[in-house]
Amino acid sequence: MARVLIAGAGVGGLAAAHRLRRQLTDSDEIVVFDQSPVHTFWPSLLWLMTGTRQAEQVQRPLAGLRERNLTIVNASITALDPAQRTVVAGDARWTGDALIIALGAALNPSAVPGLGDEPGNFYTVAGAEAVWDQLNRLKQGRVVVLISRVPFKCPAAPYEAAMLIDGVLRKHRRRDQVTIEVGAAEPAPMGVAGPKVSEAVIEALRDRGIAYHPNHLVTRVDPDARRLEFSDDTDVSYDLLAYVPPHRVPAEVAASGLAPADGWVAVDRHTLETRFSMVFAIGDVAGIPLALGKPLPKAGVFAHRQGEAVADIIANRLAERGTGATFDGAGECFIEMGRGIAGFARGDFYAEPAPIIHAYKPGRHWHAGKVAFERHWWAQWW
Ligand SMILES: Cc1cc2nc3c(=O)[nH]c(=O)nc-3n(C[C@H](O)[C@H](O)[C@H](O)COP(=O)(O)OP(=O)(O)OC[C@H]3O[C@@H](n4cnc5c(N)ncnc54)[C@H](O)[C@@H]3O)c2cc1C
Repeated sequence: MARVLIAGAGVGGLAAAHRLRRQLTDSDEIVVFDQSPVHTFWPSLLWLMTGTRQAEQVQRPLAGLRERNLTIVNASITALDPAQRTVVAGDARWTGDALIIALGAALNPSAVPGLGDEPGNFYTVAGAEAVWDQLNRLKQGRVVVLISRVPFKCPAAPYEAAMLIDGVLRKHRRRDQVTIEVGAAEPAPMGVAGPKVSEAVIEALRDRGIAYHPNHLVTRVDPDARRLEFSDDTDVSYDLLAYVPPHRVPAEVAASGLAPADGWVAVDRHTLETRFSMVFAIGDVAGIPLALGKPLPKAGVFAHRQGEAVADIIANRLAERGTGATFDGAGECFIEMGRGIAGFARGDFYAEPAPIIHAYKPGRHWHAGKVAFERHWWAQWW
């Protein structure tokens, strides 16, 4: 009997768990650890922050997955020992034949003084609800969507957020009284996808009257005065701040020696294996450099595909069939643009010297596709 440990029941962890359940025998044990009792479908937070979802629609209890012959351990992981393939969670120590680390990126708003005192961190459920609460009441003033640091997960999300906010304000005939700005600690939107995609996003913002300020690194937030200060000595006031917080590698992962505190876990870009045999890191916790000098974006589509690829690799290796097929760097993404419209892009992110991306004309069908994907995500496992 084999035992596979999966640290993290987010997008990558669950994709790996379910694929493994189909590949291994019933008596092989798959143990999934998470500090949270619920799984959150993060893309839906953009709809939570703009009032088209309630919190209970974006989360499901992990305990429900026990029916699928998965061992769910609802406890915080306090230590990882990759050399022994060991996880310490709660007061128990677990050792496996394989270990998948899928702990995502930790959010660290306090890295910017004052930022954590603002409620509008829409990368959390409570923060997305707080944005909607303020947006719903906002009659006039300035909305700032802030990208505080790079890298951050889902390169499209803050731009989608700005366009969705625009759509809500137009629907409620308040757009004329509200300005929307995006302040970004990056030179262009979705830079890994190339200049054409960046330009298309900037144009979509421009068409909606959303001001874009690239290369803006926030240094301080004054929540009482509602003011942001940037590294170029400029400042801007706001009435509603919706922000992407700084991200960092989870502390337990850094403490295990798998990643530096200011970096991410190094892996083989095809097998996702770390320098330890049968220890894999997938999704946002991994750092994968691309030939163009930027990392593979942190996105659910990659976490999902990597989870499935690693599940296949583990099943193959346990059955002594070699490694088999691996992760190929392909991925796609919907880009919500407000008022029922979305764009779509797909590409080969491992292509060299730069990713090859195909962007499709925005339309209602892409928005419908994103809604259908959300439904499918829940229907397949719950
Ligand atoms: C607003 C928003 C919109 C997004 N939209 C998209 C989109 O449209 N398309 C897309 O591809 N991606 C999107 N993403 C990004 C996507 O959600 C992430 O890239 C993806 O969730 C990464 O998967 P993961 O498994 O690596 O980490 P996660 O899904 O974050 O899972 C990590 C898990 O580890 C658990 N954990 C962490 N530390 C511990 C610990 N010490 N002990 C126990 N458990 C722990 C967490 O509770 C969590 O469940 C979006 C993200 C956000 C925030």
